[in-house]
Amino acid sequence: MASVLIIADHRGGIMGRATWSALTCGKEIAEAGGHDLEGLIIGKDVGSLAQEMAKRGVKTVHVADDPALENPLAETYAKVTADVIKATGAVWVGAASTVQARDFLPRVAAMLDAGMATDVLGVDGETLHRPVWAGAVVAEVTIDTPLKIFTARATEFEPMPETDTAGEIVAANVEVDTGALRAEYVGLEELKSERPLLSDADVVIAGGRGTKGKFEPIEQLADMLGAAIGATRAAIDAGWQPNDLQIGQTGKIVAPDLYIGAGISGAIQHLAGMKGSKTIVAINKDPEAPIFQVADYGLEADMFKAIPEFIEEYKKIKG
Ligand SMILES: Cc1cc2nc3c(=O)[nH]c(=O)nc-3n(C[C@H](O)[C@H](O)[C@H](O)COP(=O)(O)OP(=O)(O)OC[C@H]3O[C@@H](n4cnc5c(N)ncnc54)[C@H](O)[C@@H]3O)c2cc1C
Repeated sequence: MASVLIIADHRGGIMGRATWSALTCGKEIAEAGGHDLEGLIIGKDVGSLAQEMAKRGVKTVHVADDPALENPLAETYAKVTADVIKATGAVWVGAASTVQARDFLPRVAAMLDAGMATDVLGVDGETLHRPVWAGAVVAEVTIDTPLKIFTARATEFEPMPETDTAGEIVAANVEVDTGALRAEYVGLEELKSERPLLSDADVVIAGGRGTKGKFEPIEQLADMLGAAIGATRAAIDAGWQPNDLQIGQTGKIVAPDLYIGAGISGAIQHLAGMKGSKTIVAINKDPEAPIFQVADYGLEADMFKAIPEFIEEYKKIKG
């Protein structure tokens, strides 16, 4: 039977939660088309991750485990993925819409002459829903090529639950000629933070140009609520926060239980990254700020007064 193949996103021996959401998207496509749902893990020493994935409703997990695949290089990942597609006869291939998948999956599509839809928000049979114009419009697209490739926006799909039974784990044939590579993995500079990962956090406190670079109230609030910090592109471009904290069309997509935005106007490109949040709180001095149109709770106030007051009140309530 033809299959829908979902490629795992993992780093440092830890599976990204987004993978389970991509599996749910894959399952919907598989059920509509009468296909099997399968997984693919690429990396080095990924046996335990394969066991985790096998328990998430997949029939088979293909494991491409090789020292040459220790670090994610688009060139090697694309080659291995293309080889596995040819070997398995997968007809749909997808992954969560992560930086890594955005890097290597378009290469796979080009190598195998496949059509591709990115950032899929929903599935209706073989029709995929995806955002255009920074999410202002949702397009319904179908892919006409025999092989169809997609990335799924993780915040739009519930994570695939764990099951008692496990799928089969099979080794994939890996042939990577490292000598022929045109790119070399040099290293990863990662910002270490005690705070939760922005894309995984249940609570996100974001700041914009209105902070004037003073993020201390936002940091205090984030630490009190165990939240991740995010920022608008204006705040990132000003150098007030590191790039990987940008929320929006050209940053991260977040959908926490609670998003609090302070000193943020609510430009469409920022809304594209957070409007799926379950509860949105906006603090802005300007009553006309567009963010109030998407906010569940809007506070017309100076953030430098409102946040410290909130922190004091919260401490009183919590004792
Ligand atoms: C192709 C493209 C892609 C983009 N991608 C992104 C993206 O991914 N993410 C993103 O965020 N933007 C993105 N942008 C930029 C976006 O258009 C906006 O410029 C940006 O989001 C504005 O950031 P801001 O809300 O911090 O700043 P502003 O729009 O300047 O808003 C600042 C707000 O702070 C309020 N304020 C000021 N002082 C206070 C105070 N003391 N207390 C409370 N409120 C106060 C003001 O009333 C104002 O509403 C993109 C733009 C383009 C063209």
